[in-house]
Amino acid sequence: MNTNTASKPSPQAENGFLNMSLAPSLLAAVGTSGYTTPTPIQEAAIPHVLDGRDVLGCAQTGTGKTAAFALPILHHLMDHPGSGRRGSVRALVLAPTRELAAQIADSFGRYAKGSKLRHLVVFGGVGKEPQIRALKRGVEVLVATPGRLLDLMSMGVVSLSHVEHVVLDEADRMLDMGFIHDIKKVMAKVPEDRQTLLFSATIPKEIEGMAAKFLHKPKRIAVDRVSSTCDPIEQSVYFVDSASKSTLLVELLKDGAIDRALIFTRTKHGANRLAQKLTKRDIPASAIHGNKSQSARERTLLGLRSGETRVVVATDLASRGLDVKGLSHVVNFDLPNEPESYVHRVGRTGRAGESGIAVSLCSPAERPYLQAIEKLTGKKLIRRPVESYGLTTPTEKATPADIANLRRSSDAAPDRPVRSSPPHRGRQGGSPRAKNAGQAAGAPRSDSAGGTNDAAGPGGSRRPRRGAKKPARGRVGR
Ligand code: AMP
Repeated sequence: MNTNTASKPSPQAENGFLNMSLAPSLLAAVGTSGYTTPTPIQEAAIPHVLDGRDVLGCAQTGTGKTAAFALPILHHLMDHPGSGRRGSVRALVLAPTRELAAQIADSFGRYAKGSKLRHLVVFGGVGKEPQIRALKRGVEVLVATPGRLLDLMSMGVVSLSHVEHVVLDEADRMLDMGFIHDIKKVMAKVPEDRQTLLFSATIPKEIEGMAAKFLHKPKRIAVDRVSSTCDPIEQSVYFVDSASKSTLLVELLKDGAIDRALIFTRTKHGANRLAQKLTKRDIPASAIHGNKSQSARERTLLGLRSGETRVVVATDLASRGLDVKGLSHVVNFDLPNEPESYVHRVGRTGRAGESGIAVSLCSPAERPYLQAIEKLTGKKLIRRPVESYGLTTPTEKATPADIANLRRSSDAAPDRPVRSSPPHRGRQGGSPRAKNAGQAAGAPRSDSAGGTNDAAGPGGSRRPRRGAKKPARGRVGR
């Protein structure tokens, strides 16, 4: 798709990225992107990816993971132009949501400027025909959500038999029960001697076990404490009755310091309801979730990115990997029942070293969720009083009825698959979270097609390599 000739790399970009032996056109693209120094995950991962190693990369969200895999993959594709059939898919990147897939494809497009490599993003919710036509013309880099990819594979319009690199972004999510069957099917179709790269901000233990089945002697890279949230993000919590949450939110949003806010609810219905409530209170807000059409989702995201929309209410659909520059605030209107989701949600602000503010509204029934979050992140959220907003801090503990209500609302229309068992089994006993995780297991997937079971386990698709492929790391003339 990109055939521009390479411009000269900027001196600043050369400073930080020079030692990595990347192609000049990649250095130029890095310079154009305004990157002067590799981020820690880039510094740690790029040399290993260039060496052909499998990588399990764990880094805080917003720390440049995309470039950490995209740059060395593109380098290898450019450096070995003849190793794949012309127009065949040589790099496959899988992401859990359409928005994230589109964002990753944009990054590939930016970095691949100056090469003849073509990239394509395929996801559901939009027509297949343009995707099929582009596939027929040939692409080297394919970014996809698993459901649409499987659809296209079953139609025989995409072959993965020449794939050399596979990336699972947001790997923990890709390997949880909502996606794992699809991932197994896809992985069964890619050559065994591929390079596999798994990246995520959070890698729970049980997911790591699953990941190991896809990886061959991986280099494990953790540039920050597993599951930590970004330091530049100020994180606080208000204890408030669930009935008073919207009143408090309206008061908080009156603060002009809130430039742009992404507000998370647990359910799609809850997101719609809250967006309507805010709009009625003169705070125009849009909702984004899996029941919205793709064009509506794109419009909302575009509005938030451009600054035209100040407030967006979202489900966890928007919690993963999305890069919205200048997003000043993340608000957890509902606390997530999986602590890892908190890390991902909060990571939408404070991107690439910027500061950000994350505010959580915690009802008595959500206290166990808060405990799980603080345990996972190793961080105690700043407690803020609600009294200055004319409210009172709830002193009563949650009743069984409150907890049942919370569970019902979680089950009503969750927008993402949930693991079959809670990651911290036993620790929370009968907490709402533990119950939820089991009950919502049949939740619809946000972006998948079929959903049939697949006999081939991940182990079955990962036999010993025929001979370790070693993408050459040769220096390219600069
Ligand atoms: P990611 O974690 O890949 O979503 O990247 C988060 C943000 O960091 C994006 O806006 C990137 O453009 C930006 N970014 C990636 N690498 C660098 C770098 N080396 N220097 C500055 N910003 C970067």
